[in-house]
Amino acid sequence: MAEKQPFGQADQAPVRPGWATFFGSTPCLNLGQCSPPQIAFLGVPLDATTNDRPGSRAGPGAIREASMRWQPEEGGWLDVETGQTLLQGVSLADAGDVDIRVVDLAENFQRITRAVQTILQAGAFPVLVGGDHAITFPAVRAFAPRPLWVVHFDAHLDFTDNYRGVRYSHDNPLRRVRELPFVRGIVSLGVRGMLTYTPPYWEARELGVVMVPAAQFHRRGVEAALKGLPPLGDFYVSVDIDVLDPAVAPGTGYPEPGGLSYPQLKEALQRVATLGRPVGMDLTEVSPGFDPSGRTARTAAYLLLDFLGAAWATHPSLQKQQGALRQRG
Ligand code: MN
Ligand code: MN
Repeated sequence: MAEKQPFGQADQAPVRPGWATFFGSTPCLNLGQCSPPQIAFLGVPLDATTNDRPGSRAGPGAIREASMRWQPEEGGWLDVETGQTLLQGVSLADAGDVDIRVVDLAENFQRITRAVQTILQAGAFPVLVGGDHAITFPAVRAFAPRPLWVVHFDAHLDFTDNYRGVRYSHDNPLRRVRELPFVRGIVSLGVRGMLTYTPPYWEARELGVVMVPAAQFHRRGVEAALKGLPPLGDFYVSVDIDVLDPAVAPGTGYPEPGGLSYPQLKEALQRVATLGRPVGMDLTEVSPGFDPSGRTARTAAYLLLDFLGAAWATHPSLQKQQGALRQRG
């Protein structure tokens, strides 16, 4: 039997932080004053524009909490399926939550854009965790004037122009993003469902949105489904958690049957990472109140690691990107 350790051993401190950060990363609310990280996580607890079932404002907290299960102890994460160690030596920081105000959407969008600009100016790769999907527009506009594509995983097109006077809800973000002059194109992956209001579908087709329906992933497999995608150059990836099947991710406000499995989405994220150079990402629409099991938030934490791990493995230039993402001009 091992000898009893005396109290107060230096390597066995009796307390540890009781607060959560994304994957246990260093908290840093003012990136200008910290050792600049390569990846900065930013919570965006806004769900003011959800048209059906709210609750995704609790997404950042739930995903942060879930991600604490996977604090790296040896540097990086070993993906047991591939034997590959992900994100070894890559510095991460938790940049806190955007301070969302109650009803002023324009002000909240400004705050989101400014928070992303701060991350870019620090030379870090921004990872936004929502929140509802409206946050993608103020996030992407922070990249101006860098030309980029947007790769969008979602059951829905989110391409509504103006429905009964509403232009900035979680139905509109990809349409608003398409209007940004530096956005070169949009790829929407995993779309499905029945529409009762169809103009957004036809307009997305007219405006050149590249669509791959969920059924293509199921029938042909991920590799074949993604075969026709154009080379992307710089791109931003936006994941609406409802691209997953509701059986996998029930914790979301607008579930649609027939979604992707976790392995399908993981493989798709890994392949997309090779089609161009990622410059930022978001993950939205996790609404933990609909999922007492907590599996949606846990899966969301995995998806962040899956994409970031593939991005850093594919693009050695991201390893030394410090300052490379700084805005031009
Ligand atoms: Mn969406
Ligand atoms: Mn959706």
